[in-house]
Amino acid sequence: MAVYNPKSLKAEEFINDAEILATIEYAEANKSNKALIDEILEKARPKKTEAGITCAGLSHREAAVLLACDLPDMTEKLFKLAEEIKLAFYGNRIVMFAPLYLSNYCVNGCVYCPYHLKNKHICRKKLTQEEVEREVIALQDMGHKRLAIESGEDPVNNPIEYILECIKTIYSVKHKNGAIRRVNVNIAATTVENYRKLKEAGIGTYILFQETYHKESYLKLHPTGPKHDYDYHTEAMDRAMEGGIDDVGLGVLFGLELYMYEFVGLMMHAEHLEAVHGVGPHTISVPRIKRADDIDPNVFDNSISDEMFEKIIACIRIAVPYTGMIISTRESEEVRGKVLNCGISQISGASRTSVGGYTEEERPHDSEQFDVSDQRTLDEVVRWLMECGHIPSFCTACYREGRTGDRFMSLCKTGQIQNCCHPNALMTLAEYLTDYASEETKKIGFELIERELQKIPNEKARKIAAENVNDIKNSNRRDFRF
Ligand code: SAM
Repeated sequence: MAVYNPKSLKAEEFINDAEILATIEYAEANKSNKALIDEILEKARPKKTEAGITCAGLSHREAAVLLACDLPDMTEKLFKLAEEIKLAFYGNRIVMFAPLYLSNYCVNGCVYCPYHLKNKHICRKKLTQEEVEREVIALQDMGHKRLAIESGEDPVNNPIEYILECIKTIYSVKHKNGAIRRVNVNIAATTVENYRKLKEAGIGTYILFQETYHKESYLKLHPTGPKHDYDYHTEAMDRAMEGGIDDVGLGVLFGLELYMYEFVGLMMHAEHLEAVHGVGPHTISVPRIKRADDIDPNVFDNSISDEMFEKIIACIRIAVPYTGMIISTRESEEVRGKVLNCGISQISGASRTSVGGYTEEERPHDSEQFDVSDQRTLDEVVRWLMECGHIPSFCTACYREGRTGDRFMSLCKTGQIQNCCHPNALMTLAEYLTDYASEETKKIGFELIERELQKIPNEKARKIAAENVNDIKNSNRRDFRF
């Protein structure tokens, strides 16, 4: 039997089934243990040190106790702490991005995804480089600066060379004041050599959802194709890091398996990356299964309530305080609004999940991967965020300045990230407002920027940021390197 070892490179040792089950048992036994829960919350609380604010984070066992906690007053404390941590490390900034679907050709048999090989009626599409360019122009015209590219797995139709060519095209498009400054990549698990190529192509985060950490379920949910190989999929992030990629993004597809199992697996995966590579995941995504072409989400009987979804997000925020958290348009405006206060730091806007969706006039898009709940325009999402007290940020400076991997983490761990992120967020928001926003959004936005500029503690930094905002407003652009 495999033994739990977070430093091992073997999937069955760092995502160890026996340890997950023992953790669930421990959490269940302590779900009403007020003294222990209090102790855990206290450990996780942000602390001021000479180096700045630091947060201890939690072990997977401690995090599981929080998630299992059934004491209403402790649960309330937990949500408050999640918000406190979010504000301590990320302030009220929310990073904006959009997915870009390149191809839905796929050789896998994932039973929850309409791109599975047996689906013969879904429209199969793969963007040409001219189409990639047109999609990118449409995205730039909305105001997006950061993309996550998505593709099915098909070595013939979407080989790594195709993905690399698309990345090159995306970075090359400069339309009006637009530019895509960071391309994150969500493609199937691949080889160290291919990860090296992606790194050389200048990608931001490599994102790969585990879907489920439960091996037996995983094998059933991925009955055919290369994705069937659980170990190869689970060990992908180690290969990505070996290939030089600093920032990796984890995630599970909630609804496939019992949420507690997935949560513990996710926490163990984060611990493993920290133990082996000295840096935890850059982001964690929390997708839930949605209706899609030939997919009925009700077939999967592990769906979670909105309340539990919020609690999971809050517990992740507390357990891994330095990891960004992403919410997509799979979720409704209402749910997105709630989880923004539990620790989410990145949000997509105006997403299309079909290949070529940004240049298609009408819905429904016949190559769509799943139904989008939040169908608002980017302008509407940006305005809504500001009205809810958040600062939409289009900043990609960390990546452009090489603040990735452990360099990003050490900045983040001392709370220093705020000194550069806050002014950058305001300046990139000013760019967005000037170039793309409606008059109403512009008005709300520049008022917000004025107020937020006053919060920059360092006088010199405040002055420079205010000057830059003014220059942007007056269309006096320089290469600001956001
Ligand atoms: N083909 C790559 C892979 O296998 O990892 C790229 C991923 S796919 C384009 C992006 C993600 O969408 C998947 O990892 C999965 O979690 C999610 N997804 C698939 N079907 C879904 C559905 N019906 N509802 C919600 N999310 C879904």
